[in-house]
Amino acid sequence: MASEYQKEYYRKNREHILQSAKEYYQKHKEERILYSRNYKRKHWLHQQVGDNSFIIRGLNKTPYPKDRLCFICSKPKKLTYHHKDKEFNNGIWICIACHRALHLIARNWQIAKRYLPLDPYLNNS
Ligand SMILES: [Zn+2]
Ligand SMILES: [Zn+2]
Repeated sequence: MASEYQKEYYRKNREHILQSAKEYYQKHKEERILYSRNYKRKHWLHQQVGDNSFIIRGLNKTPYPKDRLCFICSKPKKLTYHHKDKEFNNGIWICIACHRALHLIARNWQIAKRYLPLDPYLNNS
């Protein structure tokens, strides 16, 4: 339990404490957003199965490309993660259009291999 002294201290300095916390929060906002984004890109995976969406945590995915370019079309677009069946850590970062095309062309990597020789994952497997 807090002592009288601590309570008194808090009462007197409450505004100051809250203000500093707020300033700290504001000052490091960008960093925190960036950190959490990078963390999720590395360790989280959003899955959609039918109408259900859920997150798989604790992964160690293929790093997000530093140049932020789509792996297939090389355009600077919003990237999504495509991985082999159940191999969540083994994937590529591609734009939504390429991702859609990839899934339309093939439901599995064996078929995709014939259509997308650009992809080293496909060539090697
Ligand atoms: Zn693309
Ligand atoms: Zn995919």
